[in-house]
Parts: sequence; structure tokens; C-alpha cells
Amino acid sequence: FRRIELDPKSKDELVEMGAAFNDMITLLERNYEKQEQFVSNASHELKTPITIIESYASLLKRRGLDRPELFHESVEAIHSEAVRMKELTEQLLLLARNRDEWQVKMEDVDLVELCEASAGAFRSAYHREVQVRSDQGAVYGWTDRQRLRQLLFIFLDNARKYSEEAVTVDIQTAGGQASIRITDRGIGIPKEELPYVFDRFYRVDEARSRKGGAGLGLSLAKDIAEAIEAELELDSLPGVGTTAVIRLKLAE
Ligand code: ADP
Repeated sequence: FRRIELDPKSKDELVEMGAAFNDMITLLERNYEKQEQFVSNASHELKTPITIIESYASLLKRRGLDRPELFHESVEAIHSEAVRMKELTEQLLLLARNRDEWQVKMEDVDLVELCEASAGAFRSAYHREVQVRSDQGAVYGWTDRQRLRQLLFIFLDNARKYSEEAVTVDIQTAGGQASIRITDRGIGIPKEELPYVFDRFYRVDEARSRKGGAGLGLSLAKDIAEAIEAELELDSLPGVGTTAVIRLKLAE
């Protein structure tokens, strides 16, 4: 917001100031509503894993000693819900943080090396096959290493959640740009849903939601892409699979 000097010289100027003031109030109201919605959605998303953890913990307290078969199931559930909550809070913290504090550091980054390293970390975390392909040994892009890694992880994670087979990452260059394509052969996204999947907390359907996340990954991806001057594209066909494309400027 820009502060204005309140010194109207005529009735017209006063009317103009009144209108500007009203516009500002509308904007503030809208932002406040968005904020409220965000907090309410976030609390709702956190409540589900907490409720599950609480009920399994209470089951363990009551029956854990005399029903050892319950032990394994409960500990598994508590662990996976705790992991889910940890991921969710990390996403929420990033989204809530002021963009100026993201500390973007643009530099020349070898995209092939970065994709190989991210795929390696992904393989060991999730035991899922990821193939990295490039027609060149090294492709230098102008980007922020840390943020691009985060972006790759969001798309790799979705590919893992919504498909069963190996995921591929292709690095190509064309017209002064580099592109990174993350492709899965999974359930895909219906065409009419594509415009919404980048919205905060949006999920294609509730049935997928226990397997998936809170609908925050892609909205975070959009923010990150903006911060590192990258373009995103999502192509998908239900039953065939999804390709996410990250386009970056090539290093000079
Ligand atoms: P989530 O954490 O729920 O996966 P995202 O914001 O990353 O949230 O994605 C929004 C929704 O888009 C997902 O809930 C899912 O329904 C759909 N989606 C995203 N990526 C894929 C994919 N690779 N294949 C199928 N559906 C996807």
C-alpha cells in the first residue's frame, strides 16, 4: 500500500479519495477472507492426522499389552500419520512465510546433475524407480538450486502418489530455454479439473485424498516457479498419465 497525503483541494478530489479508500478496504477485506479460509483449511487438514494418532494411541493404552497384534498396526498408523503431518506443516510454513524471506539465489546450475541428485534422494526415500534422461551431458540453467530441487520433489512426489510405475525425468533445450519434464503413467487428471489443481487445498476428488496430500503441493509449486522465474505446464490424460513441465532460462 502507498500512503496518500490527505489534502483535498476540491470536491472532486475528495470524491476521488473516497473511492480510492473504498477500493483499499475491499482489497483488505478480500485478503482477510483469504487468510481466514487458509487458517480454517489448514486446521481442518491437521485435525485429521491428529485424530487418527489420538485414537490409535488410546487403543494402544487400553489394549496394547494384552493384544500384541494391535501393536504393529497402531505403530504403523501413528508413524505414517506423523509423517503426513510433518510434510503438511512444512508446506504450510513455506506458504505462510513472506516471499521476501525465501532468499532466492539465482545462479548457473547444471540441471542434469541436479535432476540426477534429486532422483537419487527420491529413490532412497520412497524405493521408487526414477529414470533421468538427457541428450547432453550437462545443461546449465539460470535458477535457484534449492528451490528448483523443491519444485522437482513436488512433481516427483505427485508422480509417485498417483501412479504405480517408474517415473521419467527428461531434460531438453530449445529456443534458449531448458525444459524438465516429469512424466508418470498413472491415473491422470480430467481436463476440466486441470485449471484448478494449482489452487490452494484443491484435490481432484476426496477418494484420492488419503493417498495424496492436502492439495498444497501444486500451489506451492506455482509460488516457487514465480520466485525462480520458471514457467510451469501440466499435461494430463486420465488413465494414461501426467507430464509436468518446468521451463527455465538457459545460463548465459
Ligand atoms: P496433493 O498434495 O493433494 O497431491 P497437489 O496440489 O500436489 O496436492 O495436487 C492437487 C491435486 O491434483 C491432487 O490432489 C491430485 O488429485 C491431482 N494431481 C496432481 N498431480 C497428479 C498426478 N501426477 N497424477 C494424477 N493426479 C494428480
